[in-house]
Amino acid sequence: QLIFLDGRFVKKEDAVISVYDHGFLYGDGVFEGIRSYSGNVFRLDEHLSRLYDSAKSIMLTIPYTKEEMTNIVVETLRQNDLRDGYIRLVVSRGAGNLGLDPRNCAKASVVVIAEPLSIYPKELYETGLEIVTVATRRNRSDVLSPMVKSLNYLNNILVKIEANLAGAPEALMLNDQGYVAEGSADNIFIVKDNKLYTPPGHVGALVGITRNAIIDLARVKGYEVSESVFTRHDVYTADEVFLTGTAAEVIAVSKVDGRVIGDGNPGPITKELLVDFRELTVTDGVK
Ligand code: PLP
Repeated sequence: QLIFLDGRFVKKEDAVISVYDHGFLYGDGVFEGIRSYSGNVFRLDEHLSRLYDSAKSIMLTIPYTKEEMTNIVVETLRQNDLRDGYIRLVVSRGAGNLGLDPRNCAKASVVVIAEPLSIYPKELYETGLEIVTVATRRNRSDVLSPMVKSLNYLNNILVKIEANLAGAPEALMLNDQGYVAEGSADNIFIVKDNKLYTPPGHVGALVGITRNAIIDLARVKGYEVSESVFTRHDVYTADEVFLTGTAAEVIAVSKVDGRVIGDGNPGPITKELLVDFRELTVTDGVK
């Protein structure tokens, strides 16, 4: 496996970063998770826009243009002979000293890793996920913006730990006001009376690339989609619930905190949108 590290391709065992890198010392950096389908990198432009916006928001200069970064991503896949894979792009503040002042870091570190994908087993797409809500809260946009996909993933890791303790494959985070925000690495949609709802970013959700693709696909199909604030009650009483994300694509939720969603099987709109999404991944992408 070859990893892009600061301008070179190096073997996995040689891909090492300084212990003085502020990404390691302080979680100071941003990242993206991207997917390639049959050699097509899905929505790479959108992922790069989010990466560069995240970097701008924390005043981190990425030492490559978007065009150069596009080529780096495509070349990383090629170097690893991967047509279907998961790509992790990380930009950290770079090596500095122990002080947290980012001016001590001369140059950002850029890492691109491409690997075969590991996803939920196929059966879970047929049965749906049984998930729980957890105590860990998601910050709203009045603190560090949830739009910034930063290397500070402690909330998400705590959610994962709580999910593990509950024996659940995923869990839902609420924000500090108790409104539903998102999963540990997925966005949530609910369906009620043929209308779709998903929380807006300011509630405390990353504005997912998959989420946005699903909103577009649902609208093309004539469904109304509303970005709105909702509670656990709305989730428990929804006709359908599903999660979206780069790795998970679209996956149904069959139970939340023990409440059966709909009849307990993936609903018709969830299934329809998964088919539409998979079609889109074939037609839409950067080669
Ligand atoms: N929310 C969080 C916190 C995430 O980390 C991710 C995944 O990267 C998502 C949502 C889903 O976003 P996307 O569809 O862009 O993968």
